Amino acid sequence: MPRNKNCTACDLRKTCQYICLWGDGNHKAKVMVIGEAPGKDEDGCGKPFVGKAGRLLSSLLEDVGIKRDDVYITNSVKCRPPQNRTPTRKELLACRKYILEEIRTVRPRLIICVGGSAIKAVMNDYRLSVAKARTSKFKIFDAVVRTTFHPASVFRVPYNYKLMQEDLARYFGKSKPEVHELHRQVEMIKFSDLENQLKLFAKRGDVVIDIETNGLEPFKKD
Ligand code: SF4
Repeated sequence: MPRNKNCTACDLRKTCQYICLWGDGNHKAKVMVIGEAPGKDEDGCGKPFVGKAGRLLSSLLEDVGIKRDDVYITNSVKCRPPQNRTPTRKELLACRKYILEEIRTVRPRLIICVGGSAIKAVMNDYRLSVAKARTSKFKIFDAVVRTTFHPASVFRVPYNYKLMQEDLARYFGKSKPEVHELHRQVEMIKFSDLENQLKLFAKRGDVVIDIETNGLEPFKKD
């Protein structure tokens, strides 16, 4: 089944630019990576995983010795949800026929679902979450299905990078990933999220924190 640019199976077609954004990569790949849905960059150019999260995914795959060119990469929902919101159950279900078709065509041996939406859609089980599915192995057609976090989650929770490295190393049978340290861009952390972030940092070992002020009067309210 080719990409259906006239699909009317759900309302996401009304708000996206690129209807039914198909997967990309090696059509005979042994490995397929399935994400959630196109983001702004993807919707703009009609290719999956080309933005910041896509680059991070490529680097994570390299860490376990997998070249992006050897992988087929796609999304479980083919049109961009407005403001990148999580696709609803109805949308995942409406689009499921396309992801099944891509799996049938590519016939991968290993499918890596990145994020909760992907594993829910692929296995048609809406009770699954990343936390539950990370420790389980599923099967669909001839492929083993494994799950890890979505690379975009690393920008909110940096510790997920390490967990993703460990998951991918396990799924590709490596004892240890060739760790390239994550060269993260500087990110703002909201004050309300500070305690949570400090707990995550504490698990990573040595951490240097540079705190910036926005004035010389610490008790003055903005
Ligand atoms: Fe069709 Fe999927 Fe796009 Fe909905 S998201 S309109 S089901 S291609």
